[in-house]
Amino acid sequence: MIPVDYEEGKRIVDTCTCECGAAFTLPWGGTWGIDSYVLKCAKDISHNRIARPASLGPYDIPGWNLSTLRGRREQMTQELGKEKATKLRKYEGVVSLTRMQAMEILKTIWPKAPEFEVLKAAMICHQYGLNPLMKHLFLIPFKRKEQGKVVGEDWVAVLGIKTNRLIAQRCHNYSYLDLTPRRMTDQEQEKVLGEVDDSRVWAITMIKDVDTGAKAMGVGSWPKDEVPYGVEKGNTKLNMACIRSERQALDRQYPGEMPQGIEVIDEEYVPIEGKSLISLPEGDTGGAKEISAEEIEGEGFHIDLTWLEESKKDLKWTDETMLSFLASPPYKVSGKSVTEALNKLTREQAEDFVKEINARLEKQQASLFE
Ligand SMILES: [Zn+2]
Repeated sequence: MIPVDYEEGKRIVDTCTCECGAAFTLPWGGTWGIDSYVLKCAKDISHNRIARPASLGPYDIPGWNLSTLRGRREQMTQELGKEKATKLRKYEGVVSLTRMQAMEILKTIWPKAPEFEVLKAAMICHQYGLNPLMKHLFLIPFKRKEQGKVVGEDWVAVLGIKTNRLIAQRCHNYSYLDLTPRRMTDQEQEKVLGEVDDSRVWAITMIKDVDTGAKAMGVGSWPKDEVPYGVEKGNTKLNMACIRSERQALDRQYPGEMPQGIEVIDEEYVPIEGKSLISLPEGDTGGAKEISAEEIEGEGFHIDLTWLEESKKDLKWTDETMLSFLASPPYKVSGKSVTEALNKLTREQAEDFVKEINARLEKQQASLFE
Protein backbone atom coordinates (compact mmCIF):
# COMPACT_ATOMS: atom_id res chain seq x y z
CA MET A 1 0.00 0.00 0.00
CA ILE A 2 1.12 3.54 -0.65
CA PRO A 3 0.09 6.38 1.66
CA VAL A 4 -1.16 9.37 -0.39
CA ASP A 5 -3.22 12.47 0.13
CA TYR A 6 -6.73 12.18 -1.26
CA GLU A 7 -6.41 14.49 -4.28
CA GLU A 8 -3.19 12.96 -5.52
CA GLY A 9 -4.57 9.49 -4.84
CA LYS A 10 -7.64 10.22 -6.94
CA ARG A 11 -5.50 11.38 -9.85
CA ILE A 12 -3.37 8.25 -9.62
CA VAL A 13 -6.38 5.92 -9.43
CA ASP A 14 -7.73 7.57 -12.59
CA THR A 15 -4.56 7.40 -14.67
CA CYS A 16 -2.43 4.59 -13.28
CA THR A 17 -2.52 0.97 -12.22
CA CYS A 18 -0.50 -1.11 -9.80
CA GLU A 19 2.79 -2.40 -11.20
CA CYS A 20 1.11 -5.84 -11.50
CA GLY A 21 -1.56 -4.37 -13.78
CA ALA A 22 -4.40 -4.54 -11.26
CA ALA A 23 -6.41 -1.44 -10.39
CA PHE A 24 -5.85 0.63 -7.25
CA THR A 25 -8.53 1.52 -4.77
CA LEU A 26 -8.26 4.50 -2.43
CA PRO A 27 -9.43 3.51 1.05
CA TRP A 28 -8.63 5.24 4.36
CA GLY A 29 -5.56 3.48 5.82
CA GLY A 30 -6.89 3.26 9.39
CA THR A 31 -7.61 -0.47 9.16
CA TRP A 32 -3.89 -1.03 8.57
CA GLY A 33 -2.72 1.52 11.10
CA ILE A 34 -1.95 4.18 8.48
CA ASP A 35 -3.17 7.67 9.24
CA SER A 36 -3.95 8.74 5.65
CA TYR A 37 -5.58 7.51 2.48
CA VAL A 38 -3.74 4.65 0.79
CA LEU A 39 -3.42 3.29 -2.73
CA LYS A 40 -4.31 -0.36 -2.39
CA CYS A 41 -3.71 -2.92 -5.13
CA ALA A 42 -6.87 -4.89 -5.78
CA LYS A 43 -4.86 -8.06 -6.18
CA ASP A 44 -2.15 -7.98 -3.53
CA ILE A 45 -2.11 -5.68 -0.55
CA SER A 46 1.71 -5.79 -0.31
CA HIS A 47 2.18 -4.21 -3.77
CA ASN A 48 3.54 -0.68 -3.63
CA ARG A 49 4.60 0.50 -7.08
CA ILE A 50 2.61 2.74 -9.37
CA ALA A 51 2.58 2.12 -13.13
CA ARG A 52 1.14 4.35 -15.84
CA PRO A 53 0.42 2.40 -19.02
CA ALA A 54 1.99 4.05 -22.05
CA SER A 55 -0.55 5.00 -24.67
CA LEU A 56 -0.70 7.34 -27.62
CA GLY A 57 -3.20 10.04 -28.38
CA PRO A 58 -5.12 10.04 -31.66
CA TYR A 59 -2.69 12.41 -33.37
CA ASP A 60 0.15 9.95 -32.95
CA ILE A 61 -1.60 6.95 -34.37
CA PRO A 62 -0.82 6.33 -38.01
CA GLY A 63 -3.73 7.12 -40.33
CA TRP A 64 -5.84 9.45 -38.24
CA ASN A 65 -9.53 9.12 -38.22
CA LEU A 66 -11.22 11.50 -40.59
CA SER A 67 -12.52 13.99 -38.07
CA THR A 68 -9.01 15.05 -37.06
CA LEU A 69 -7.85 15.12 -40.66
CA ARG A 70 -9.82 18.23 -41.51
CA GLY A 71 -8.19 20.22 -38.73
CA ARG A 72 -4.78 19.02 -39.75
CA ARG A 73 -5.45 20.03 -43.37
CA GLU A 74 -6.32 23.53 -42.34
CA GLN A 75 -3.19 23.67 -40.25
CA MET A 76 -1.09 22.46 -43.17
CA THR A 77 -2.55 25.06 -45.48
CA GLN A 78 -1.83 27.71 -42.89
CA GLU A 79 1.72 26.57 -42.30
CA LEU A 80 2.78 25.72 -45.83
CA GLY A 81 0.52 27.75 -48.06
CA LYS A 82 -2.20 26.38 -50.29
CA GLU A 83 -0.04 25.22 -53.18
CA LYS A 84 2.33 23.14 -51.08
CA ALA A 85 -0.42 21.76 -48.91
CA THR A 86 -2.33 20.57 -51.98
CA LYS A 87 0.78 18.98 -53.41
CA LEU A 88 1.40 17.02 -50.23
CA ARG A 89 -2.20 16.03 -49.62
CA LYS A 90 -1.71 12.59 -51.11
CA TYR A 91 0.80 11.74 -48.40
CA GLU A 92 -1.37 12.68 -45.44
CA GLY A 93 -1.44 9.92 -42.88
CA VAL A 94 0.80 7.63 -44.93
CA VAL A 95 3.37 5.81 -42.79
CA SER A 96 4.86 3.62 -45.48
CA LEU A 97 6.62 6.32 -47.45
CA THR A 98 9.34 5.38 -49.87
CA ARG A 99 12.62 7.25 -49.59
CA MET A 100 11.71 9.33 -52.63
CA GLN A 101 8.27 10.24 -51.30
CA ALA A 102 9.76 11.20 -47.94
CA MET A 103 12.32 13.34 -49.75
CA GLU A 104 9.58 15.10 -51.71
CA ILE A 105 7.74 15.92 -48.49
CA LEU A 106 10.87 17.07 -46.68
CA LYS A 107 11.96 19.26 -49.58
CA THR A 108 8.54 20.85 -49.81
CA ILE A 109 8.36 21.67 -46.13
CA TRP A 110 12.03 22.63 -45.73
CA PRO A 111 13.23 23.78 -49.18
CA LYS A 112 16.44 25.26 -47.78
CA ALA A 113 17.62 22.09 -46.07
CA PRO A 114 20.70 20.55 -47.69
CA GLU A 115 20.42 17.32 -49.66
CA PHE A 116 22.41 15.47 -47.01
CA GLU A 117 20.09 16.05 -44.11
CA VAL A 118 17.02 15.58 -46.32
CA LEU A 119 18.38 12.23 -47.38
CA LYS A 120 19.21 11.13 -43.88
CA ALA A 121 15.76 12.19 -42.68
CA ALA A 122 14.09 10.45 -45.64
CA MET A 123 15.85 7.22 -44.78
CA ILE A 124 14.69 7.42 -41.19
CA CYS A 125 11.11 8.04 -42.36
CA HIS A 126 11.27 5.09 -44.71
CA GLN A 127 12.93 2.75 -42.25
CA TYR A 128 10.82 3.60 -39.20
CA GLY A 129 7.48 4.23 -40.84
CA LEU A 130 7.42 7.95 -40.06
CA ASN A 131 5.91 10.91 -41.86
CA PRO A 132 7.04 14.55 -41.48
CA LEU A 133 3.48 15.64 -42.27
CA MET A 134 2.40 13.88 -39.09
CA LYS A 135 5.04 15.80 -37.17
CA HIS A 136 7.06 12.67 -36.53
CA LEU A 137 10.28 14.24 -37.71
CA PHE A 138 11.56 17.76 -38.21
CA LEU A 139 14.46 19.46 -39.91
CA ILE A 140 15.89 22.35 -37.97
CA PRO A 141 18.53 24.89 -39.01
CA PHE A 142 21.46 25.93 -36.83
CA LYS A 143 23.61 28.96 -37.31
CA ARG A 144 27.20 27.87 -37.61
CA LYS A 145 29.43 30.33 -35.83
CA GLU A 146 33.14 30.91 -35.94
CA GLN A 147 34.61 33.37 -33.47
CA GLY A 148 31.18 34.71 -32.71
CA LYS A 149 30.31 35.37 -36.36
CA VAL A 150 27.65 33.49 -38.26
CA VAL A 151 29.46 31.77 -41.11
CA GLY A 152 26.82 29.40 -42.35
CA GLU A 153 23.94 27.16 -41.56
CA ASP A 154 23.75 23.53 -40.52
CA TRP A 155 20.62 21.47 -40.44
CA VAL A 156 19.76 18.51 -38.28
CA ALA A 157 16.94 16.03 -38.32
CA VAL A 158 15.23 15.66 -34.94
CA LEU A 159 12.48 13.40 -33.69
CA GLY A 160 9.63 14.30 -31.41
CA ILE A 161 9.38 12.41 -28.13
CA LYS A 162 5.98 11.15 -29.27
CA THR A 163 7.71 9.61 -32.26
CA ASN A 164 9.96 7.65 -29.94
CA ARG A 165 6.90 6.51 -28.05
CA LEU A 166 5.19 5.60 -31.31
CA ILE A 167 8.13 3.45 -32.45
CA ALA A 168 8.25 1.68 -29.08
CA GLN A 169 4.50 1.21 -28.77
CA ARG A 170 4.08 -0.29 -32.22
CA CYS A 171 5.94 -3.36 -30.96
CA HIS A 172 5.76 -3.21 -27.17
CA ASN A 173 3.47 -2.79 -24.27
CA TYR A 174 5.07 -0.85 -21.43
CA SER A 175 4.35 1.28 -18.38
CA TYR A 176 6.02 4.19 -16.63
CA LEU A 177 6.87 3.34 -13.02
CA ASP A 178 6.94 5.49 -9.89
CA LEU A 179 5.24 8.52 -11.49
CA THR A 180 8.13 9.08 -13.89
CA PRO A 181 9.23 10.93 -15.96
CA ARG A 182 9.86 13.40 -13.16
CA ARG A 183 12.60 15.40 -11.48
CA MET A 184 15.32 13.26 -9.89
CA THR A 185 15.54 13.50 -6.14
CA ASP A 186 18.90 14.33 -4.55
CA GLN A 187 18.95 10.80 -3.23
CA GLU A 188 18.48 9.37 -6.71
CA GLN A 189 21.15 11.68 -8.10
CA GLU A 190 23.60 10.46 -5.49
CA LYS A 191 22.75 6.87 -6.27
CA VAL A 192 22.86 7.18 -10.06
CA LEU A 193 25.36 9.98 -10.69
CA GLY A 194 27.46 9.55 -7.56
CA GLU A 195 26.84 13.16 -6.58
CA VAL A 196 24.23 15.88 -6.58
CA ASP A 197 24.80 18.04 -9.66
CA ASP A 198 23.53 21.56 -9.09
CA SER A 199 24.50 22.87 -12.51
CA ARG A 200 21.80 20.96 -14.37
CA VAL A 201 18.17 19.98 -13.99
CA TRP A 202 18.03 16.19 -13.79
CA ALA A 203 15.10 13.94 -14.60
CA ILE A 204 14.50 10.21 -14.37
CA THR A 205 12.27 7.79 -16.26
CA MET A 206 11.62 4.19 -15.32
CA ILE A 207 9.78 1.92 -17.66
CA LYS A 208 8.67 -1.67 -17.37
CA ASP A 209 7.77 -3.92 -20.25
CA VAL A 210 4.40 -5.40 -19.41
CA ASP A 211 4.98 -8.62 -21.34
CA THR A 212 8.56 -9.43 -20.31
CA GLY A 213 8.67 -7.64 -16.96
CA ALA A 214 12.02 -6.08 -17.93
CA LYS A 215 12.73 -2.70 -16.39
CA ALA A 216 14.88 0.10 -17.69
CA MET A 217 15.92 3.43 -16.26
CA GLY A 218 16.89 6.54 -18.14
CA VAL A 219 18.24 9.85 -16.89
CA GLY A 220 18.42 13.14 -18.71
CA SER A 221 19.44 16.66 -17.90
CA TRP A 222 19.37 20.25 -19.07
CA PRO A 223 21.87 22.97 -18.06
CA LYS A 224 20.37 25.42 -15.58
CA ASP A 225 21.98 28.39 -17.28
CA GLU A 226 20.58 27.59 -20.71
CA VAL A 227 17.10 28.58 -21.84
CA PRO A 228 15.41 25.88 -23.91
CA TYR A 229 13.37 26.66 -27.03
CA GLY A 230 9.67 27.33 -26.64
CA VAL A 231 9.75 28.76 -23.09
CA GLU A 232 7.33 31.44 -24.22
CA LYS A 233 4.85 28.66 -24.98
CA GLY A 234 5.47 26.87 -21.73
CA ASN A 235 8.47 24.66 -22.34
CA THR A 236 10.75 24.20 -19.32
CA LYS A 237 14.21 22.91 -18.49
CA LEU A 238 12.58 20.15 -16.50
CA ASN A 239 10.49 19.14 -19.51
CA MET A 240 13.62 18.93 -21.64
CA ALA A 241 15.37 16.84 -18.99
CA CYS A 242 12.29 14.60 -18.77
CA ILE A 243 12.06 13.87 -22.50
CA ARG A 244 15.77 13.15 -22.62
CA SER A 245 15.45 10.73 -19.73
CA GLU A 246 12.46 9.07 -21.37
CA ARG A 247 14.33 8.69 -24.63
CA GLN A 248 17.24 7.07 -22.81
CA ALA A 249 14.95 4.69 -20.94
CA LEU A 250 13.30 3.64 -24.24
CA ASP A 251 16.72 3.21 -25.82
CA ARG A 252 17.86 1.00 -23.00
CA GLN A 253 14.65 -1.00 -22.81
CA TYR A 254 14.50 -1.62 -26.55
CA PRO A 255 18.10 -1.35 -27.72
CA GLY A 256 18.62 -0.73 -31.40
CA GLU A 257 14.96 -0.02 -32.09
CA MET A 258 15.17 3.77 -31.94
CA PRO A 259 16.91 5.79 -34.65
CA GLN A 260 20.37 6.51 -33.30
CA GLY A 261 22.34 9.73 -33.11
CA ILE A 262 19.25 11.92 -33.35
CA GLU A 263 18.25 14.52 -30.82
CA VAL A 264 14.78 14.36 -29.38
CA ILE A 265 12.53 17.39 -28.97
CA ASP A 266 9.10 18.09 -27.58
CA GLU A 267 6.84 18.45 -30.62
CA GLU A 268 4.60 20.79 -28.65
CA TYR A 269 7.34 23.39 -28.89
CA VAL A 270 9.09 22.89 -32.19
CA PRO A 271 12.05 25.21 -32.37
CA ILE A 272 12.27 27.41 -35.45
CA GLU A 273 15.97 27.34 -35.08
CA GLY A 274 18.24 24.98 -33.20
CA LYS A 275 19.62 27.55 -30.81
CA SER A 276 18.94 25.80 -27.55
CA LEU A 277 18.21 22.44 -28.96
CA ILE A 278 21.48 20.71 -28.59
CA SER A 279 23.21 21.99 -25.55
CA LEU A 280 26.37 20.99 -23.76
CA PRO A 281 27.21 17.31 -23.96
CA GLU A 282 25.47 15.26 -21.37
CA GLY A 283 26.79 11.83 -20.55
CA ASP A 284 25.64 9.02 -22.75
CA THR A 285 22.14 10.29 -23.42
CA GLY A 286 23.09 10.91 -27.01
CA GLY A 287 22.85 14.14 -28.95
CA ALA A 288 22.77 15.01 -32.60
CA LYS A 289 26.48 15.71 -32.48
CA GLU A 290 27.10 12.06 -31.85
CA ILE A 291 27.82 10.45 -35.18
CA SER A 292 26.84 6.82 -35.34
CA ALA A 293 29.29 4.21 -36.54
CA GLU A 294 27.09 3.77 -39.57
CA GLU A 295 28.38 6.92 -41.18
CA ILE A 296 31.43 8.04 -43.00
CA GLU A 297 32.62 11.25 -41.52
CA GLY A 298 34.89 13.48 -43.49
CA GLU A 299 35.75 17.17 -43.59
CA GLY A 300 32.45 18.60 -42.36
CA PHE A 301 30.22 15.93 -43.88
CA HIS A 302 28.95 12.47 -43.30
CA ILE A 303 27.55 9.81 -45.58
CA ASP A 304 25.11 7.28 -44.30
CA LEU A 305 26.41 3.79 -44.98
CA THR A 306 22.97 2.22 -44.99
CA TRP A 307 21.96 4.63 -47.73
CA LEU A 308 25.13 3.80 -49.63
CA GLU A 309 24.55 0.06 -49.40
CA GLU A 310 20.91 0.38 -50.44
CA SER A 311 21.79 2.64 -53.34
CA LYS A 312 24.47 0.27 -54.52
CA LYS A 313 21.98 -2.56 -54.44
CA ASP A 314 19.30 -0.54 -56.25
CA LEU A 315 21.72 0.57 -58.95
CA LYS A 316 23.18 -2.94 -59.16
CA TRP A 317 26.64 -1.50 -58.70
CA THR A 318 29.52 -3.52 -57.28
CA ASP A 319 32.21 -2.03 -55.06
CA GLU A 320 34.37 -1.90 -58.17
CA THR A 321 31.78 0.12 -60.09
CA MET A 322 31.58 2.51 -57.17
CA LEU A 323 35.35 2.78 -56.94
CA SER A 324 35.75 3.53 -60.63
CA PHE A 325 32.93 6.12 -60.38
CA LEU A 326 34.83 7.78 -57.55
CA ALA A 327 38.15 7.53 -59.38
CA SER A 328 36.87 9.47 -62.38
CA PRO A 329 36.26 13.26 -62.54
CA PRO A 330 35.11 15.33 -60.76
CA TYR A 331 36.01 13.25 -57.68
CA LYS A 332 39.27 11.54 -58.59
CA VAL A 333 39.64 9.77 -55.25
CA SER A 334 40.72 6.21 -54.74
CA GLY A 335 41.20 3.73 -51.96
CA LYS A 336 41.32 0.07 -51.11
CA SER A 337 37.65 0.26 -50.16
CA VAL A 338 34.70 2.50 -51.06
CA THR A 339 34.77 3.82 -47.50
CA GLU A 340 38.41 4.78 -47.78
CA ALA A 341 37.82 6.57 -51.08
CA LEU A 342 34.77 8.43 -49.77
CA ASN A 343 36.77 9.64 -46.81
CA LYS A 344 38.98 11.59 -49.19
CA LEU A 345 36.13 13.69 -50.60
CA THR A 346 35.75 17.33 -49.70
CA ARG A 347 32.42 18.50 -48.31
CA GLU A 348 31.36 19.90 -51.69
CA GLN A 349 32.36 16.74 -53.49
CA ALA A 350 30.52 14.60 -50.97
CA GLU A 351 27.35 16.64 -51.43
CA ASP A 352 27.73 16.37 -55.17
CA PHE A 353 28.31 12.63 -54.88
CA VAL A 354 25.08 12.13 -52.92
CA LYS A 355 23.20 14.26 -55.45
CA GLU A 356 24.63 12.30 -58.38
CA ILE A 357 23.75 8.94 -56.89
CA ASN A 358 20.26 10.15 -56.03
CA ALA A 359 19.76 11.48 -59.55
CA ARG A 360 20.65 8.05 -60.89
CA LEU A 361 18.26 6.38 -58.47
CA GLU A 362 15.46 8.74 -59.43
CA LYS A 363 16.07 8.16 -63.11
CA GLN A 364 16.04 4.44 -62.53
CA GLN A 365 12.79 4.62 -60.58
CA ALA A 366 11.19 6.75 -63.28
CA SER A 367 12.21 4.31 -65.99
CA LEU A 368 10.39 1.53 -64.18
CA PHE A 369 7.12 3.26 -64.97
CA GLU A 370 7.81 3.93 -68.63
ZN1 LIG B 1 -0.58 -5.13 -7.66
